[in-house]
Amino acid sequence: MNSTSIAIVGFGKIARDQHVPALHDNAAFTLDAVASRNASLEGVAHFRDIQTLLDERPDIQAISLCAPPQVRYSQARAAIAAGKHVMLEKPPGATLSEVEDLRAQAEHAGVTLFATWHSRYAAGVAQAREWLNERRVRSVNVQWKEDVRRWHPGQEWIWEAGGLGVFDPGINALSIITAILPEPFFLTQGELAVPANRQGPIAATLAFRDAHDADIRAEFDWRQTGPQTWDIHIETDAGPLSLTQGGSRLTIGDEVMMEGGDAEYPGLYARFAELIANGESDVDVAPLRHVADAFLLGQRVSVDAFHE
Ligand code: NAP
Repeated sequence: MNSTSIAIVGFGKIARDQHVPALHDNAAFTLDAVASRNASLEGVAHFRDIQTLLDERPDIQAISLCAPPQVRYSQARAAIAAGKHVMLEKPPGATLSEVEDLRAQAEHAGVTLFATWHSRYAAGVAQAREWLNERRVRSVNVQWKEDVRRWHPGQEWIWEAGGLGVFDPGINALSIITAILPEPFFLTQGELAVPANRQGPIAATLAFRDAHDADIRAEFDWRQTGPQTWDIHIETDAGPLSLTQGGSRLTIGDEVMMEGGDAEYPGLYARFAELIANGESDVDVAPLRHVADAFLLGQRVSVDAFHE
């Protein structure tokens, strides 16, 4: 199998922490370039922006977009127009409409577009989906609570319009439940706590239901210090299931069924390679749609200003 020549665009925290090691360990890809205004990677060709990269390196076959969502669309459009396969960090865009447009452009250009949801590749998620497929869900309780100062130091874009605020991590929980629940569900009520000096919420409380009136609730909070919580608890007609530690630990009843290490990004790149080989795309906007619904229906409550 020939290795696909790939470039990373937007070389920040997630590119360094996850994309580089995952690409290093995947023979299907060779990391040949980085495009980022201020950052570079030793031993890899560097370009200031995506257009220069596309102009000067026509041999690059795929682009992995790791900049904030507010610039995703213009970068993806340029890459697709240049005939590249494109992988989008989550969230896939700042709006639903722009992601739909990218899907159409990729189809027209005959390239692969992969809108990634890394939490779906956490160790317990696939088995949870399989088990729940046979069950009737009665209730879901999502607790996704972390310390924004610890995980997003100095990142201004998360607080700006299009940065999603606490939905930046919360969308990971939504990406899991949209993948594992057997029925579609929709928002009925929401409350968004927005710091007086910010655009994005610092916390959100959401209530959803499905066609069988399952009671689905989610609490996202960026103000949690001490131990961090990324847990999903589900009650079914056959007993409880819990996905904790971000989806890496699966418990069914009292039994721990899976406790895995961090293999989310290797899973994403394996899937990207498979999509390219099969000439397919994978663009699921369901998690982003729920976030958009929360901004549509949720009541805003002003809370204390947030300072780093
Ligand atoms: P980050 O550390 O702020 O890095 C993003 C990089 O993109 C920046 O370092 C910057 O590099 C570039 N960039 C920023 N604004 C730009 C602009 N206006 N135009 C062009 N480039 C720009 O952010 P991150 O945490 O890596 O997050 C990036 C994406 O990954 C987000 O969508 C986030 O939701 C997702 N993600 C993050 C994490 C995490 O733990 N941090 C986990 C999973 C997914 P230059 O200044 O060098 O251009």
